[in-house]
Amino acid sequence: MTSTPPSKGQLERVLIAGGGIGGIATALALAKRGIASTVLERRLIFGEDGAGIQIGPNGTRILGELGAAAFLRSRVTVPDGLRVLDATTARPLAAFPLGRWIAERHGAPYWTAHRRDLHNALLSAAERESLIKIRMGFDVTSVSDEGDGVTATSANADDCRGDVLIAADGAWSALRSRAFGGAAPAYTGKCAVRVVLPIEDVPEALNRTEVHLWLGRDVHVVHYPVQAGHAVALVVVFDDRHVTTDWSTSCDTAWVSGRTTGFAPLLRELLARPDEWRRWSLMTLRHSPRLAVGRLALLGDAAHPVMPFLAQGGVMALEDAVVVADTLAADRADPPRALKAYERARRSRVQRVARASRLNGRIYHLGGLPADARNFAFTRMSADRFMRRFDWLYGWTAPQTASHQPVTPSASSE
Ligand SMILES: Cc1cc2nc3c(=O)[nH]c(=O)nc-3n(C[C@H](O)[C@H](O)[C@H](O)COP(=O)(O)OP(=O)(O)OC[C@H]3O[C@@H](n4cnc5c(N)ncnc54)[C@H](O)[C@@H]3O)c2cc1C
Repeated sequence: MTSTPPSKGQLERVLIAGGGIGGIATALALAKRGIASTVLERRLIFGEDGAGIQIGPNGTRILGELGAAAFLRSRVTVPDGLRVLDATTARPLAAFPLGRWIAERHGAPYWTAHRRDLHNALLSAAERESLIKIRMGFDVTSVSDEGDGVTATSANADDCRGDVLIAADGAWSALRSRAFGGAAPAYTGKCAVRVVLPIEDVPEALNRTEVHLWLGRDVHVVHYPVQAGHAVALVVVFDDRHVTTDWSTSCDTAWVSGRTTGFAPLLRELLARPDEWRRWSLMTLRHSPRLAVGRLALLGDAAHPVMPFLAQGGVMALEDAVVVADTLAADRADPPRALKAYERARRSRVQRVARASRLNGRIYHLGGLPADARNFAFTRMSADRFMRRFDWLYGWTAPQTASHQPVTPSASSE
């Protein structure tokens, strides 16, 4: 999609608080529609890496439209499928197709990537857009809606003025509670520990171009290749009482090994390889905040931190980005009305994804007889029929762009 010139409506410049995946994607989506934006990012440099991120066809389709897929393609892996195993016995329970199957079904591929590579690809695309400005070191501490515009103020008392502000400041969003009546996120009682391992450190039997999902009682493990197959992202999710408020709390291998003693030897071998893990607490919002108040809108994790059991957190932020850009572009003369339209367009979709993700989490962590029943069901399941049940998820296109010619990164499985 090529950038279109700005129209003469009232919307001149959008402020975006937060330069994460959602914030940069929003700036790109706006630029593609001829709308200028300033991204206000509190960090001085983008450096924190994160670990792996899965991007389903509903996300890769958007990366194509934003011009970011071209920068990411050489860094991703296209997994052939999803392999489900019993964490205790290593017995295979099911195999579901991804790769060519999902690319052909949805017209866009399923990718696994390092989160840093995804973010870098979005930044590279943004560098090419003259309509996007990024101000680093701008920690937005307050926002005022003056009726005809908004002003964001930083911790250093710098001001920045625009027509609307989109808060994409992450799961711990300060703006959510200040401007949208949202509460602080609540701890779910589950934490994830994660690491990215060089491929040489992965036991050979597990070096496959697949997403692996290992199920145990109150715990599951996911791993998949990233960095074009040079590394594997590894995540273990289990119950834990300690809550951390960042993405990078260190955690040692003994702690992980001690909590996975009943696992099959092959899986234990994999989990013993990293020297150090990073831990983060899985948060939720007990009550959904409003997504639009006057000239302010919430987006991405700030609006709806979803559990990672459907691998859709980052992709929901990409979907939000396209929808808010569409509604603003369609109603430039009345930005508050456009933001309300964004809220209406997103609420039920995000709630459905959050519900499906929570349900997956419950199914993954079953024990005893319910787990036996689940495993039996898995072994009997038609893989195609199971995957077609997710057409609503992966086949999503933005309501107002559905009639546009889709720009996909690649419909092949590469
Ligand atoms: C460091 C990090 C590592 C992550 N690692 C993973 C991972 O390994 N796997 C995974 O699936 N997901 C990970 N996530 C989450 C995933 O990236 C998000 O679910 C998804 O990208 C949603 O993006 P977002 O833009 O809504 O929020 P985020 O990606 O959290 O971005 C929020 C941005 O807002 C900035 N910000 C916060 N407060 C302010 C403020 N007051 N003023 C200005 N800027 C502010 C932050 O610095 C950040 O850049 C990670 C997120 C972060 C920030």
